[in-house]
Amino acid sequence: MKIRKGDRVQVLSGKDRGKTGTVTFAYPARGKVVVDGLNVAKKHQKPTRATMQGGIQDKAMPIHVSNLMLVCGKDGPVKVGYRIDPNGEKHRVCRKCGAEL
Ligand SMILES: [Zn+2]
Repeated sequence: MKIRKGDRVQVLSGKDRGKTGTVTFAYPARGKVVVDGLNVAKKHQKPTRATMQGGIQDKAMPIHVSNLMLVCGKDGPVKVGYRIDPNGEKHRVCRKCGAEL
C-alpha cells in the first residue's frame, strides 16, 4: 500500500473531497485507512454500563486508498513513485520533485 499511518493525504472523492488530513490507522488487507477528522459518520451510541450515557458521536470511517492522494510538503497532492537504493531498500518518492516521502 502506498499510504501509511502518519501520512498527510488529500481526499479525491466523496463529501470530503479536497480536504487533507493525517492517516491515523491503516488496514493494509482491505486497502483502507482512517484519516483524522475526515469521512466522519454519526455513530449512535447506546448507553453502556461504563458511560451510563448514550448519544451521537462523530467517528472517522475508513477510506479506500484509491480515493486518496499523498501530500508532498512542497508540491501538494502528488503521485507516489518508488526508488530502490543501493542496499536494495525501497523508498517512496514524490514523482514531481523526487523528494523522499
Ligand atoms: Zn514533491
